[in-house]
Amino acid sequence: MYFYGTFPEDFTWGVSSSAYQIEGGWDADGKGPSIWDNFTHVPGNVNNNGTGDIACDSYNRVEEDIYMLRALGAKNYRFSLSWPRIFPTGRNNSINSHGVAYYNRLIDGLIANNITPIVTLYHWDLPQALQDIGGWESNELIDLFNSFADFCFQTFGDRVKFWITINEPNIIAWMGYGNGLFPPNVKEPGSAPYRVAHILLKAHARVYHTYDDKYRTSQGGVIALCPFISWAEPKTLSDPRDIEAADSYLQFLVGWFTHPIFKNGDYPEVMKWKVGNRSELQNLPSSRLPVFTAEEREYIRGTADVFCFNTYSTKIVKYSTTPLTPFSYEYDQEVSLTFDSSWPSSALPAHRPVAWGLRRLLNWIKEEYRNPPIYISENGVGEKAKSDVDDNARIFYYKTYIDEALKAYKVDGVNLKGYNAWSLMDNFEWVDGYDPRFGLHQIDFDNPNRPRTPKRSAVYYAEIIRNNGIPLPKEDEFLYGEFPENFLWSAHLGQIFPHSLKNRQ
Ligand code: BGC
Repeated sequence: MYFYGTFPEDFTWGVSSSAYQIEGGWDADGKGPSIWDNFTHVPGNVNNNGTGDIACDSYNRVEEDIYMLRALGAKNYRFSLSWPRIFPTGRNNSINSHGVAYYNRLIDGLIANNITPIVTLYHWDLPQALQDIGGWESNELIDLFNSFADFCFQTFGDRVKFWITINEPNIIAWMGYGNGLFPPNVKEPGSAPYRVAHILLKAHARVYHTYDDKYRTSQGGVIALCPFISWAEPKTLSDPRDIEAADSYLQFLVGWFTHPIFKNGDYPEVMKWKVGNRSELQNLPSSRLPVFTAEEREYIRGTADVFCFNTYSTKIVKYSTTPLTPFSYEYDQEVSLTFDSSWPSSALPAHRPVAWGLRRLLNWIKEEYRNPPIYISENGVGEKAKSDVDDNARIFYYKTYIDEALKAYKVDGVNLKGYNAWSLMDNFEWVDGYDPRFGLHQIDFDNPNRPRTPKRSAVYYAEIIRNNGIPLPKEDEFLYGEFPENFLWSAHLGQIFPHSLKNRQ
Protein backbone atom coordinates (compact mmCIF):
# COMPACT_ATOMS: atom_id res chain seq x y z
CA MET A 1 0.00 0.00 0.00
CA TYR A 2 1.11 3.51 -0.69
CA PHE A 3 1.79 5.70 2.32
CA TYR A 4 1.73 9.48 2.33
CA GLY A 5 3.77 11.67 4.59
CA THR A 6 6.89 13.70 5.00
CA PHE A 7 10.24 13.37 6.72
CA PRO A 8 11.42 15.61 9.58
CA GLU A 9 12.62 19.14 8.84
CA ASP A 10 16.31 18.27 9.22
CA PHE A 11 16.15 15.23 6.92
CA THR A 12 18.95 15.38 4.37
CA TRP A 13 18.35 14.57 0.70
CA GLY A 14 21.24 14.08 -1.63
CA VAL A 15 22.86 12.27 -4.49
CA SER A 16 26.06 10.26 -4.56
CA SER A 17 28.97 9.64 -6.89
CA SER A 18 32.56 8.47 -6.67
CA ALA A 19 35.85 9.81 -7.99
CA TYR A 20 36.89 7.08 -10.40
CA GLN A 21 33.38 6.75 -11.80
CA ILE A 22 32.96 10.42 -12.77
CA GLU A 23 36.16 12.47 -12.68
CA GLY A 24 38.19 11.37 -15.69
CA GLY A 25 41.48 13.28 -15.86
CA TRP A 26 43.09 9.98 -15.00
CA ASP A 27 46.64 11.31 -15.44
CA ALA A 28 45.92 15.06 -15.41
CA ASP A 29 48.15 17.54 -13.57
CA GLY A 30 50.32 14.95 -11.86
CA LYS A 31 47.70 12.49 -10.67
CA GLY A 32 49.16 9.05 -9.96
CA PRO A 33 47.65 5.86 -11.37
CA SER A 34 45.18 3.85 -9.33
CA ILE A 35 44.53 0.13 -9.45
CA TRP A 36 41.38 0.89 -11.48
CA ASP A 37 43.34 2.91 -14.07
CA ASN A 38 45.67 0.01 -14.64
CA PHE A 39 42.95 -2.60 -14.61
CA THR A 40 40.72 -0.80 -17.13
CA HIS A 41 43.67 -0.20 -19.45
CA VAL A 42 43.95 -3.93 -20.10
CA PRO A 43 41.62 -4.77 -23.00
CA GLY A 44 39.01 -7.34 -22.12
CA ASN A 45 38.75 -6.49 -18.44
CA VAL A 46 35.71 -4.23 -18.74
CA ASN A 47 32.52 -4.48 -20.78
CA ASN A 48 33.25 -2.84 -24.17
CA ASN A 49 36.70 -1.94 -22.87
CA GLY A 50 35.29 1.05 -21.01
CA THR A 51 37.68 3.04 -18.82
CA GLY A 52 37.44 5.94 -16.39
CA ASP A 53 40.00 7.95 -18.40
CA ILE A 54 37.46 10.66 -19.18
CA ALA A 55 34.22 9.35 -17.67
CA CYS A 56 31.94 12.37 -17.02
CA ASP A 57 34.96 14.68 -17.14
CA SER A 58 33.96 16.05 -13.75
CA TYR A 59 37.59 16.98 -13.08
CA ASN A 60 37.02 19.80 -15.58
CA ARG A 61 33.34 20.46 -14.94
CA VAL A 62 32.83 21.53 -11.35
CA GLU A 63 30.34 24.25 -12.30
CA GLU A 64 28.24 21.90 -14.39
CA ASP A 65 28.05 19.35 -11.60
CA ILE A 66 27.04 22.00 -9.11
CA TYR A 67 24.42 23.31 -11.50
CA MET A 68 22.77 19.87 -11.58
CA LEU A 69 22.82 19.67 -7.79
CA ARG A 70 21.20 23.07 -7.50
CA ALA A 71 18.53 22.16 -10.02
CA LEU A 72 17.71 19.07 -7.98
CA GLY A 73 17.54 21.12 -4.80
CA ALA A 74 19.93 18.60 -3.22
CA LYS A 75 20.74 19.27 0.43
CA ASN A 76 23.95 17.26 0.26
CA TYR A 77 26.33 15.81 -2.29
CA ARG A 78 28.27 12.68 -1.48
CA PHE A 79 31.44 12.30 -3.55
CA SER A 80 34.79 10.63 -2.97
CA LEU A 81 38.35 11.88 -2.98
CA SER A 82 40.77 10.18 -5.32
CA TRP A 83 43.70 9.19 -3.12
CA PRO A 84 46.19 9.11 -6.05
CA ARG A 85 45.00 12.52 -7.24
CA ILE A 86 45.99 13.97 -3.87
CA PHE A 87 48.95 11.71 -3.07
CA PRO A 88 50.16 10.37 -6.48
CA THR A 89 52.28 7.68 -4.82
CA GLY A 90 49.85 7.14 -1.98
CA ARG A 91 52.19 8.76 0.55
CA ASN A 92 52.16 12.22 2.07
CA ASN A 93 55.55 13.07 0.64
CA SER A 94 53.95 13.43 -2.79
CA ILE A 95 51.18 16.00 -2.39
CA ASN A 96 49.65 17.12 -5.69
CA SER A 97 48.47 20.69 -5.25
CA HIS A 98 46.34 20.55 -8.43
CA GLY A 99 44.35 17.68 -7.00
CA VAL A 100 43.87 19.54 -3.72
CA ALA A 101 42.78 22.63 -5.65
CA TYR A 102 40.16 20.63 -7.56
CA TYR A 103 38.53 19.38 -4.37
CA ASN A 104 38.72 22.84 -2.82
CA ARG A 105 36.89 24.26 -5.82
CA LEU A 106 34.22 21.60 -5.55
CA ILE A 107 33.78 21.94 -1.78
CA ASP A 108 33.71 25.74 -1.91
CA GLY A 109 31.19 25.63 -4.74
CA LEU A 110 28.95 23.32 -2.74
CA ILE A 111 29.13 25.44 0.39
CA ALA A 112 28.42 28.60 -1.61
CA ASN A 113 25.24 26.92 -2.82
CA ASN A 114 24.19 25.62 0.57
CA ILE A 115 24.90 21.99 -0.32
CA THR A 116 26.53 19.94 2.44
CA PRO A 117 29.51 17.91 1.25
CA ILE A 118 29.58 14.28 2.39
CA VAL A 119 33.05 13.02 1.61
CA THR A 120 34.13 9.42 1.14
CA LEU A 121 37.84 9.00 1.73
CA TYR A 122 38.15 5.74 -0.14
CA HIS A 123 35.89 4.51 -2.93
CA TRP A 124 38.09 1.73 -4.34
CA ASP A 125 40.71 3.66 -6.38
CA LEU A 126 43.82 2.66 -4.44
CA PRO A 127 47.09 4.27 -5.59
CA GLN A 128 48.89 1.65 -7.68
CA ALA A 129 52.09 2.37 -5.73
CA LEU A 130 50.38 1.02 -2.62
CA GLN A 131 49.11 -2.04 -4.41
CA ASP A 132 52.73 -2.68 -5.31
CA ILE A 133 53.55 -3.11 -1.63
CA GLY A 134 50.66 -5.52 -1.08
CA GLY A 135 47.53 -3.32 -1.07
CA TRP A 136 44.96 -4.07 1.62
CA GLU A 137 46.71 -7.35 2.41
CA SER A 138 49.49 -5.34 4.00
CA ASN A 139 49.28 -3.94 7.53
CA GLU A 140 51.27 -0.96 6.28
CA LEU A 141 48.09 0.30 4.66
CA ILE A 142 46.64 1.10 8.08
CA ASP A 143 49.22 3.85 8.65
CA LEU A 144 49.20 4.99 5.06
CA PHE A 145 45.41 5.33 4.89
CA ASN A 146 45.53 7.15 8.19
CA SER A 147 48.06 9.64 6.92
CA PHE A 148 45.94 10.29 3.82
CA ALA A 149 42.84 10.75 5.97
CA ASP A 150 44.72 13.01 8.39
CA PHE A 151 45.76 15.22 5.48
CA CYS A 152 42.16 15.40 4.23
CA PHE A 153 40.76 16.30 7.67
CA GLN A 154 43.38 18.98 8.01
CA THR A 155 42.88 20.36 4.50
CA PHE A 156 39.13 20.09 3.98
CA GLY A 157 37.72 19.53 7.47
CA ASP A 158 37.02 23.21 8.10
CA ARG A 159 34.20 22.80 5.52
CA VAL A 160 33.51 19.05 5.45
CA LYS A 161 31.49 17.84 8.44
CA PHE A 162 30.45 14.40 7.26
CA TRP A 163 33.09 11.79 6.45
CA ILE A 164 32.81 8.23 5.24
CA THR A 165 36.03 6.29 5.63
CA ILE A 166 35.58 3.33 3.29
CA ASN A 167 32.87 2.68 0.72
CA GLU A 168 31.61 -0.90 0.92
CA PRO A 169 34.53 -2.60 2.65
CA ASN A 170 32.60 -5.86 2.33
CA ILE A 171 32.60 -5.57 -1.47
CA ILE A 172 36.31 -4.69 -1.52
CA ALA A 173 37.13 -7.77 0.56
CA TRP A 174 35.03 -10.16 -1.51
CA MET A 175 35.24 -8.78 -5.06
CA GLY A 176 38.87 -7.66 -4.79
CA TYR A 177 40.25 -10.63 -2.87
CA GLY A 178 37.64 -13.43 -2.95
CA ASN A 179 36.13 -13.92 -6.39
CA GLY A 180 38.71 -11.47 -7.73
CA LEU A 181 36.44 -9.75 -10.24
CA PHE A 182 37.65 -6.31 -9.15
CA PRO A 183 41.28 -5.23 -8.92
CA PRO A 184 43.61 -6.36 -7.46
CA ASN A 185 41.93 -9.56 -8.75
CA VAL A 186 43.10 -11.84 -5.98
CA LYS A 187 41.16 -15.08 -6.17
CA GLU A 188 41.52 -16.56 -2.71
CA PRO A 189 37.92 -16.97 -1.57
CA GLY A 190 38.70 -18.97 1.57
CA SER A 191 40.98 -16.66 3.49
CA ALA A 192 42.03 -13.43 1.77
CA PRO A 193 38.63 -11.71 2.23
CA TYR A 194 38.82 -12.34 5.99
CA ARG A 195 42.40 -11.12 6.23
CA VAL A 196 41.66 -8.02 4.18
CA ALA A 197 38.50 -7.21 6.15
CA HIS A 198 40.57 -7.47 9.34
CA ILE A 199 42.95 -4.83 8.01
CA LEU A 200 40.17 -2.63 6.61
CA LEU A 201 38.48 -2.63 10.00
CA LYS A 202 41.69 -1.62 11.74
CA ALA A 203 42.35 1.06 9.14
CA HIS A 204 38.83 2.42 9.55
CA ALA A 205 39.15 2.48 13.34
CA ARG A 206 42.52 4.16 13.13
CA VAL A 207 41.12 6.96 10.98
CA TYR A 208 38.12 7.33 13.27
CA HIS A 209 40.43 7.79 16.27
CA THR A 210 42.55 10.31 14.40
CA TYR A 211 39.43 12.35 13.73
CA ASP A 212 38.35 11.97 17.33
CA ASP A 213 41.72 12.85 18.84
CA LYS A 214 42.84 15.64 16.53
CA TYR A 215 39.88 17.19 14.75
CA ARG A 216 36.52 16.52 16.32
CA THR A 217 36.69 19.28 18.92
CA SER A 218 37.57 22.00 16.44
CA GLN A 219 35.68 20.68 13.39
CA GLY A 220 32.65 19.01 14.97
CA GLY A 221 31.78 16.54 12.20
CA VAL A 222 30.59 12.94 12.07
CA ILE A 223 32.40 9.93 10.66
CA ALA A 224 31.26 6.44 9.68
CA LEU A 225 31.78 3.77 7.06
CA CYS A 226 29.22 2.51 4.58
CA PRO A 227 28.75 -1.17 3.87
CA PHE A 228 26.74 -2.62 1.03
CA ILE A 229 23.61 -4.45 2.20
CA SER A 230 20.89 -6.42 0.46
CA TRP A 231 17.88 -7.39 2.53
CA ALA A 232 17.73 -11.17 3.12
CA GLU A 233 14.25 -12.67 3.07
CA PRO A 234 14.01 -16.25 4.39
CA LYS A 235 12.74 -18.61 1.68
CA THR A 236 10.28 -20.44 3.94
CA LEU A 237 9.13 -18.35 6.86
CA SER A 238 7.91 -21.41 8.74
CA ASP A 239 11.33 -23.08 8.51
CA PRO A 240 13.59 -21.93 11.38
CA ARG A 241 16.64 -23.05 9.40
CA ASP A 242 15.81 -20.55 6.64
CA ILE A 243 15.27 -17.80 9.19
CA GLU A 244 18.67 -18.56 10.70
CA ALA A 245 20.18 -18.75 7.22
CA ALA A 246 18.86 -15.29 6.34
CA ASP A 247 20.33 -13.89 9.53
CA SER A 248 23.58 -15.68 8.90
CA TYR A 249 23.72 -14.16 5.41
CA LEU A 250 23.28 -10.65 6.85
CA GLN A 251 25.88 -11.25 9.54
CA PHE A 252 28.45 -12.45 7.01
CA LEU A 253 27.61 -9.64 4.59
CA VAL A 254 27.38 -6.65 6.89
CA GLY A 255 27.73 -7.78 10.52
CA TRP A 256 31.27 -8.68 9.47
CA PHE A 257 32.00 -4.92 9.76
CA THR A 258 29.13 -3.48 11.75
CA HIS A 259 29.06 -6.04 14.57
CA PRO A 260 32.60 -5.08 15.63
CA ILE A 261 31.90 -1.37 15.19
CA PHE A 262 28.37 -1.06 16.60
CA LYS A 263 28.42 -3.94 19.09
CA ASN A 264 31.39 -5.43 20.87
CA GLY A 265 34.54 -4.95 18.80
CA ASP A 266 34.33 -8.52 17.54
CA TYR A 267 32.92 -10.51 14.63
CA PRO A 268 29.37 -11.93 14.85
CA GLU A 269 29.08 -15.20 16.78
CA VAL A 270 27.74 -17.02 13.73
CA MET A 271 30.85 -16.09 11.72
CA LYS A 272 33.21 -17.17 14.47
CA TRP A 273 31.32 -20.42 14.90
CA LYS A 274 30.87 -21.33 11.24
CA VAL A 275 34.32 -20.34 9.96
CA GLY A 276 36.01 -21.83 13.04
CA ASN A 277 34.11 -25.08 12.83
CA ARG A 278 34.62 -25.49 9.12
CA SER A 279 38.32 -24.64 9.38
CA GLU A 280 38.64 -27.46 11.91
CA LEU A 281 36.85 -29.88 9.59
CA GLN A 282 39.21 -28.70 6.86
CA ASN A 283 42.12 -29.75 9.08
CA LEU A 284 43.49 -26.26 9.32
CA PRO A 285 45.59 -25.37 12.37
CA SER A 286 43.39 -22.35 13.15
CA SER A 287 40.27 -20.57 11.96
CA ARG A 288 40.44 -18.76 8.64
CA LEU A 289 38.71 -15.89 10.45
CA PRO A 290 41.42 -13.86 12.20
CA VAL A 291 41.08 -13.01 15.88
CA PHE A 292 41.18 -9.54 17.44
CA THR A 293 43.08 -8.99 20.67
CA ALA A 294 41.14 -7.51 23.59
CA GLU A 295 42.92 -4.23 22.95
CA GLU A 296 41.95 -4.22 19.27
CA ARG A 297 38.33 -4.96 20.14
CA GLU A 298 38.28 -2.00 22.46
CA TYR A 299 39.87 0.15 19.75
CA ILE A 300 37.33 -0.83 17.07
CA ARG A 301 34.15 -0.80 19.15
CA GLY A 302 32.16 2.43 18.76
CA THR A 303 34.05 3.79 15.76
CA ALA A 304 31.05 5.14 13.84
CA ASP A 305 28.88 8.09 14.79
CA VAL A 306 26.03 7.13 12.48
CA PHE A 307 24.98 4.07 10.46
CA CYS A 308 25.42 4.60 6.70
CA PHE A 309 24.70 1.92 4.14
CA ASN A 310 24.20 1.42 0.40
CA THR A 311 21.41 -0.77 -0.87
CA TYR A 312 19.91 -1.83 -4.16
CA SER A 313 18.04 -5.11 -3.88
CA THR A 314 16.94 -8.16 -1.88
CA LYS A 315 17.92 -11.83 -1.80
CA ILE A 316 15.84 -14.85 -0.92
CA VAL A 317 17.87 -17.03 1.39
CA LYS A 318 17.63 -20.72 2.11
CA TYR A 319 19.68 -22.95 4.35
CA SER A 320 22.07 -25.11 2.38
CA THR A 321 24.68 -27.75 3.15
CA THR A 322 27.64 -26.34 1.29
CA PRO A 323 30.81 -28.24 0.31
CA LEU A 324 33.91 -27.99 2.53
CA THR A 325 36.17 -27.49 -0.47
CA PRO A 326 37.21 -25.27 -2.05
CA PHE A 327 37.47 -23.09 1.05
CA SER A 328 35.21 -20.12 0.51
CA TYR A 329 33.65 -17.22 2.36
CA GLU A 330 30.51 -17.95 0.35
CA TYR A 331 30.33 -21.60 1.38
CA ASP A 332 31.09 -20.65 4.98
CA GLN A 333 27.67 -18.98 5.19
CA GLU A 334 25.82 -22.27 4.48
CA VAL A 335 23.12 -20.54 2.47
CA SER A 336 21.79 -20.59 -1.05
CA LEU A 337 20.49 -17.44 -2.70
CA THR A 338 17.67 -16.96 -5.15
CA PHE A 339 15.28 -14.26 -6.23
CA ASP A 340 11.61 -14.17 -7.10
CA SER A 341 11.12 -14.25 -10.86
CA SER A 342 8.16 -11.90 -10.49
CA TRP A 343 10.51 -9.12 -9.37
CA PRO A 344 11.21 -6.73 -12.26
CA SER A 345 14.67 -6.93 -13.79
CA SER A 346 17.20 -4.12 -14.18
CA ALA A 347 20.51 -3.67 -15.98
CA LEU A 348 22.37 -5.71 -13.34
CA PRO A 349 21.04 -9.23 -12.73
CA ALA A 350 21.70 -8.95 -8.98
CA HIS A 351 19.85 -5.64 -8.68
CA ARG A 352 16.16 -6.44 -9.05
CA PRO A 353 13.99 -3.74 -7.51
CA VAL A 354 12.28 -5.00 -4.32
CA ALA A 355 11.11 -1.92 -2.47
CA TRP A 356 9.59 -3.68 0.54
CA GLY A 357 13.02 -5.14 1.30
CA LEU A 358 14.24 -1.68 2.22
CA ARG A 359 11.66 -1.29 5.00
CA ARG A 360 12.56 -4.67 6.45
CA LEU A 361 16.25 -3.91 6.20
CA LEU A 362 15.82 -0.59 8.00
CA ASN A 363 13.92 -2.38 10.75
CA TRP A 364 16.63 -5.03 10.99
CA ILE A 365 19.29 -2.35 11.45
CA LYS A 366 17.13 -0.63 14.06
CA GLU A 367 16.66 -3.85 16.07
CA GLU A 368 20.15 -5.21 15.61
CA TYR A 369 22.07 -2.04 16.44
CA ARG A 370 19.70 -0.38 18.92
CA ASN A 371 18.14 2.30 16.81
CA PRO A 372 21.16 4.22 15.52
CA PRO A 373 20.80 7.33 13.35
CA ILE A 374 20.67 5.88 9.82
CA TYR A 375 21.66 7.34 6.46
CA ILE A 376 20.93 5.56 3.19
CA SER A 377 24.09 6.63 1.38
CA GLU A 378 23.29 5.00 -1.99
CA ASN A 379 20.11 3.69 -3.55
CA GLY A 380 19.10 3.52 -7.18
CA VAL A 381 18.64 1.38 -10.26
CA GLY A 382 20.57 0.83 -13.45
CA GLU A 383 18.95 0.64 -16.85
CA LYS A 384 20.43 -0.62 -20.06
CA ALA A 385 19.01 1.89 -22.51
CA LYS A 386 21.30 4.60 -23.78
CA SER A 387 18.64 7.20 -24.52
CA ASP A 388 16.77 6.78 -21.29
CA VAL A 389 15.62 10.30 -20.54
CA ASP A 390 12.08 8.94 -20.22
CA ASP A 391 13.13 6.67 -17.39
CA ASN A 392 9.80 5.69 -15.92
CA ALA A 393 11.14 2.50 -14.39
CA ARG A 394 13.60 4.58 -12.37
CA ILE A 395 10.82 6.91 -11.23
CA PHE A 396 8.90 3.86 -10.06
CA TYR A 397 12.01 2.59 -8.26
CA TYR A 398 12.55 5.84 -6.35
CA LYS A 399 8.87 6.32 -5.65
CA THR A 400 8.46 2.88 -4.12
CA TYR A 401 11.82 2.71 -2.30
CA ILE A 402 11.40 6.16 -0.78
CA ASP A 403 7.86 5.28 0.21
CA GLU A 404 9.10 2.19 2.07
CA ALA A 405 11.73 4.35 3.77
CA LEU A 406 8.91 6.71 4.76
CA LYS A 407 6.93 3.83 6.29
CA ALA A 408 10.02 2.72 8.21
CA TYR A 409 10.45 6.23 9.57
CA LYS A 410 6.82 7.12 10.28
CA VAL A 411 5.22 3.81 11.16
CA ASP A 412 8.12 1.78 12.53
CA GLY A 413 10.06 4.51 14.28
CA VAL A 414 13.32 3.91 12.42
CA ASN A 415 15.71 6.77 13.12
CA LEU A 416 16.27 7.59 9.45
CA LYS A 417 18.16 10.83 8.90
CA GLY A 418 18.95 10.98 5.22
CA TYR A 419 18.58 9.47 1.78
CA ASN A 420 21.03 9.65 -1.13
CA ALA A 421 20.20 8.55 -4.64
CA TRP A 422 22.78 6.75 -6.75
CA SER A 423 23.65 8.51 -8.89
CA LEU A 424 23.84 12.20 -9.78
CA MET A 425 24.58 11.22 -13.39
CA ASP A 426 25.36 8.26 -15.62
CA ASN A 427 28.90 7.12 -14.97
CA PHE A 428 31.49 4.37 -15.21
CA GLU A 429 29.87 1.31 -13.65
CA TRP A 430 33.05 -0.67 -12.84
CA VAL A 431 33.44 -3.93 -14.80
CA ASP A 432 30.09 -3.27 -16.49
CA GLY A 433 31.47 -0.16 -18.18
CA TYR A 434 28.96 2.35 -19.51
CA ASP A 435 26.06 0.03 -20.31
CA PRO A 436 24.16 0.15 -17.07
CA ARG A 437 23.08 3.72 -16.53
CA PHE A 438 22.34 4.76 -12.96
CA GLY A 439 22.08 8.52 -13.43
CA LEU A 440 19.36 11.01 -12.65
CA HIS A 441 21.10 12.92 -15.42
CA GLN A 442 22.05 11.48 -18.76
CA ILE A 443 25.58 11.93 -20.04
CA ASP A 444 26.34 11.79 -23.73
CA PHE A 445 29.61 9.86 -23.63
CA ASP A 446 30.05 10.24 -27.39
CA ASN A 447 30.30 14.00 -27.06
CA PRO A 448 33.64 15.39 -25.82
CA ASN A 449 31.75 18.05 -23.84
CA ARG A 450 29.88 15.36 -21.96
CA PRO A 451 26.59 17.30 -21.93
CA ARG A 452 24.37 16.59 -18.92
CA THR A 453 20.62 16.24 -19.49
CA PRO A 454 18.11 15.77 -16.69
CA LYS A 455 16.04 12.62 -17.00
CA ARG A 456 12.42 12.53 -15.88
CA SER A 457 13.60 10.86 -12.68
CA ALA A 458 15.64 13.98 -11.86
CA VAL A 459 12.49 16.07 -12.09
CA TYR A 460 10.65 13.55 -9.93
CA TYR A 461 13.43 13.38 -7.32
CA ALA A 462 13.57 17.19 -7.19
CA GLU A 463 9.86 17.15 -6.37
CA ILE A 464 10.39 14.64 -3.55
CA ILE A 465 13.15 16.83 -2.15
CA ARG A 466 10.99 19.95 -2.43
CA ASN A 467 8.12 18.20 -0.64
CA ASN A 468 10.46 16.55 1.88
CA GLY A 469 8.82 13.23 1.13
CA ILE A 470 5.57 12.12 -0.41
CA PRO A 471 2.75 14.22 1.01
CA LEU A 472 -0.87 13.43 0.24
CA PRO A 473 -1.69 14.81 -3.21
CA LYS A 474 -3.56 18.12 -3.00
CA GLU A 475 -6.59 16.75 -4.86
CA ASP A 476 -7.02 14.00 -2.22
CA GLU A 477 -6.71 16.28 0.76
CA PHE A 478 -10.45 16.92 1.06
CA LEU A 479 -10.98 13.20 1.65
CA TYR A 480 -8.69 13.02 4.64
CA GLY A 481 -7.86 15.32 7.52
CA GLU A 482 -7.37 15.99 11.19
CA PHE A 483 -9.17 18.01 13.88
CA PRO A 484 -7.49 21.03 15.48
CA GLU A 485 -4.74 20.54 18.09
CA ASN A 486 -7.02 21.38 21.07
CA PHE A 487 -9.90 19.17 19.91
CA LEU A 488 -11.42 17.35 22.88
CA TRP A 489 -11.91 13.59 22.54
CA SER A 490 -13.84 11.66 25.17
CA ALA A 491 -16.11 8.67 25.65
CA HIS A 492 -19.65 8.74 26.98
CA LEU A 493 -20.26 6.25 29.76
CA GLY A 494 -24.00 6.92 30.20
CA GLN A 495 -25.85 5.21 33.09
CA ILE A 496 -23.17 2.74 34.05
CA PHE A 497 -20.91 5.29 35.69
CA PRO A 498 -22.91 6.22 38.86
CA HIS A 499 -23.93 2.61 39.29
CA SER A 500 -20.41 1.23 39.29
CA LEU A 501 -19.29 4.02 41.62
CA LYS A 502 -21.98 2.97 44.07
CA ASN A 503 -20.85 -0.65 43.90
CA ARG A 504 -17.34 0.29 44.85
CA GLN A 505 -18.36 2.16 48.02
C1 BGC B 1 28.92 1.20 -5.42
C2 BGC B 1 28.87 2.14 -6.60
C3 BGC B 1 28.21 1.46 -7.78
C4 BGC B 1 26.81 1.09 -7.40
C5 BGC B 1 25.96 0.46 -8.47
C6 BGC B 1 27.64 0.44 -5.24
O1 BGC B 1 27.92 -0.84 -4.83
O2 BGC B 1 29.29 1.89 -4.27
O3 BGC B 1 30.17 2.56 -6.87
O4 BGC B 1 28.23 2.22 -8.92
O5 BGC B 1 26.87 0.17 -6.34
O6 BGC B 1 26.39 -0.83 -8.79
